Amino acid sequence: MSITPKPGLLRVVLPVPLRREFDYLCPLPLPAPGCRVSVPFGNRTMTALVLSHPSGSDIDATKLKSIGAVLDPMPILADDELRLLAWATQYYLYAPGEVYFQALPALLRKGEAADYRSTAYWHLLDAEAGVSAQAIKQQQALNLLRQGPLTAGELEVRGISGAILQALAKKQLIEKREQLPQPGDWRGNTAVSDDDKPRLTTEQALAVSLIQSARGFSPFLLEGITGSGKTEVYLQIMEPILQAGRQVLVLVPEIGLTPQTISRFQQRFKVPISTLHSGMNERERLDAWLSCRDSSTAIIIGTRSALLTPFARLGLIIIDEEHDTSFKQQDGFRYHARDLALLRARQLDIPIVLGSATPSFESLHNAASGKYQLLTLSQRPGTATVAEHLLLDSKHVQLHAGLSPQLIQLLEQELAKGNQVMLFLNRRGYAPALLCHDCGWLADCERCDAHYTWHQRPTRLHCHHCDHQRPLPPACPNCGSRQLMGTGLGTEQVEQALSGIFPQYGIIRIDRDNTRRKGSFQQHLEGIRNGKYQILIGTQMLAKGHHFPDVTLVAILDADGALFASDFRATERFAQLYIQVAGRAGRASKPGRVVLQTHQPEHALLQDLANQGYRHFAHSALQERQAAGLPPFSFQALLRAQAPQSRQVQEFLQQLVQQLAPGLPTGVLCLGPLSAQMERKAGQYRYQLLLQAGNRRELAAACRLALAIIDQLASARKVRWSLDVDPVEL
Ligand code: ADP
Ligand code: ZN
Ligand code: ZN
Repeated sequence: MSITPKPGLLRVVLPVPLRREFDYLCPLPLPAPGCRVSVPFGNRTMTALVLSHPSGSDIDATKLKSIGAVLDPMPILADDELRLLAWATQYYLYAPGEVYFQALPALLRKGEAADYRSTAYWHLLDAEAGVSAQAIKQQQALNLLRQGPLTAGELEVRGISGAILQALAKKQLIEKREQLPQPGDWRGNTAVSDDDKPRLTTEQALAVSLIQSARGFSPFLLEGITGSGKTEVYLQIMEPILQAGRQVLVLVPEIGLTPQTISRFQQRFKVPISTLHSGMNERERLDAWLSCRDSSTAIIIGTRSALLTPFARLGLIIIDEEHDTSFKQQDGFRYHARDLALLRARQLDIPIVLGSATPSFESLHNAASGKYQLLTLSQRPGTATVAEHLLLDSKHVQLHAGLSPQLIQLLEQELAKGNQVMLFLNRRGYAPALLCHDCGWLADCERCDAHYTWHQRPTRLHCHHCDHQRPLPPACPNCGSRQLMGTGLGTEQVEQALSGIFPQYGIIRIDRDNTRRKGSFQQHLEGIRNGKYQILIGTQMLAKGHHFPDVTLVAILDADGALFASDFRATERFAQLYIQVAGRAGRASKPGRVVLQTHQPEHALLQDLANQGYRHFAHSALQERQAAGLPPFSFQALLRAQAPQSRQVQEFLQQLVQQLAPGLPTGVLCLGPLSAQMERKAGQYRYQLLLQAGNRRELAAACRLALAIIDQLASARKVRWSLDVDPVEL
C-alpha cells in the first residue's frame, strides 16, 4: 500500500516576463530554496527555481497545480545569492524570471544536471618535450600544458589556436583525452613566485597596505594613469586572500579579456584560474560556473555576467576599467555589474576595488562623498614617462584622407626612428556616407534614420545600426549620374591613404570588420607585438588595455563629433576614450606623444584634457552636472518604447504620462515622451520617457506607479517597452 505524502507549498520563479512569483503544490519533503523543479505552466513544462516555502497562497487551493519533478538534490544557489537576486529584482523592477534565470548558465535553465561532464582535455605526453625555437606558439602551448591538462577553449583564451594543438598532436607531443574536470584543492598551495614581483612604488605600496588593512566591506577607488601599475596592485592584494583559501573575482570589460591579462595572473599564482565570457560554449560556461561554486577554481576573470556566478568562498572583488559601459547590460535585464558587485561585497562583508585611469563620474562622486576610499597612482614606475599632448588645428589645412601635413610629418619622424604609430578613428568602413556629386542624393537605410556606410572590402553599403547590407548602386538612383562619392572618413580610407604615403611600412587595421574571424584579433595583436606592423589604425577596439611597448605616437583623427553630441554623458565618454587612447603612447621607456587633430583646438574640454588631465576635467564637468541637477547628483530611469508605427508608441507614452503625472511624488521630474536619439531604427519608431529624482526612493515609487499604469493600458500591448534604471545611454 502506498502512502501519498501530504503536499506543501512552493513559491517559485519562472523564466517568463511577468513581474510575479508562482505557487505550486509539492509533496513533502519540500526541496530547499535554490533548487530547481519542473512545473506545468500553461500547456508546457518549465524549469522553475524554488524561492521559499510560503505558509499560504493567494491562489485558491483547488486551482493550485503540482510540480512535476525535483531537479536538484541540493540548492544550486545559496541563500546569499538568492538574496542578491531578490534585491536586484526590486531595484531594477524587472520580472523575477528575467533576473534569476540570468544568473544560471543556459544548460541549467534548460534543466540539465548541475554536474560536470567529461570533456576533452589536452595532455602533455612527454614532460621534457620541446620544439624548435622558432615555433613560439607551440612552445607556449607546451609550457601551459606542463602545468596540467587544459581544454581547447581554455587554451584558446590563452592565445593557443586549434591549429597549433593539431600540429603538436601530429608530432605526438600532446594528446586529447576525455575526462571529468579534476577539482584539485588549491588551498594551502598558492605558491607565489617571488622572482618577477617588482618592488612597489611608494604610491602602490600605500594602496596595497590600505586595502590589506581594511576589514570587512570596504570599497576602494583605485585611480591610476595607464601604466601606473594598477594590475600590480591587484596582484599583491590578491595574495593574502588566496593564501587564506578564498576566491577572487576579477571583472573586466567585454574586450579586456586577452591572453596577456590571463597570463599575468597565471605567472604570479599557481592556482586554477577560470574565465567567464560570452565567447564560451554552454558546457564550458557551466563547468566554469560549477568550479566557482565548489571553489575548485581560485581566480575567476570574467565579463559582466560573471558577477552573477555563485562563489563558495569569495574574498575579494576587483573591477578593472570600472568606467567601461560594457558593465551595464543594455538589453534584457538591464543591470550594472559594478553596482551589483558593490552590493555583493557589502553582503559578503569583503573588500572591493574599482580600478580605472578614468573613473566614472559616479565613482568619483562616491569617492568625494566618502563612500569609497580614493587611492591614487599618479606616476609610472621606473623610467616610463608620461606622454606629451599636442592639439593640431585642422582648420584651413589641406587634409589628405583626414590627415594634415603636420601629422604626416610627425608620423614620418617616429617611423624613421623605428617606432610604431597608432591612428585612432572610431568609424569603420571606407566612408560614413555615399553621396551623388551631381544631385546630392545620399544613400540612406530604408529602415533607420541613418546613412549607409560605404565599405570597400568587400564592396557594399552597410547600415551599422540595423546591420542591413546591399550592393553599391552603379549609378545615382535619383539622377542617373555615375559620380558617386564617399563623404567623411572611415578606417578603410585611412588605411588606403597611409599605404600610399608609407609603402615601406607594414600597416594593420583593427576594427570589427577584420576581427570577426575567430582568432584573427589575436593574430593581429601578435603581428603588432612582433614588429610585423609599424602603422596601426583602429577603432575603440585598439584603445583598450593592450600593451604595445613600441608605440610612441598616438593620433586621434576626429574629435569633433564627440564635442557636440546630445547625450550629457558624451563628454565624459570622450574624455575617457581620449585618455585611454593616449595611454597607448610611451608605455615602456620610450617617451610618447598624443596628437589630437581637431577643428576646435580652443575648445575648453580639449584644452582641459590635453593640459590638465582627466581629474581636472572631471572636476569641472562634475560641477556642471551638479548645477544642472544631472546624475550623479540625481537619479534617472528611462522608459523606452518602440513599435512599427510612430502613432502607436506616442499614444502609449502619452496615455502613460497623463495618468502618471498626477500621482508622481513631488520631487520627481517626468520628461517626454521624447523621440530616441535615432527615432527610427530597424523599422521601429522609438520614443522614451525620462524620470528623474533627487533620491532613489522617490524614483522607485515613480517607476512602480508607471509599471502599475502600464499593466492596465491596452495601448501597451501594441508596443515593446522596457524600463532602464540608472541608464548609461539616453
Ligand atoms: P596599469 O594596470 O595601471 O595599466 P600595469 O600594472 O600594467 O599598469 O603596469 C604597467 C607596467 O609596469 C607593467 O609592465 C608592469 O609589469 C610594470 N610595473 C608595475 N608596477 C611596477 C613596479 N613597482 N616596478 C616596476 N615595474 C612595475
Ligand atoms: Zn544624383
Ligand atoms: Zn539600418
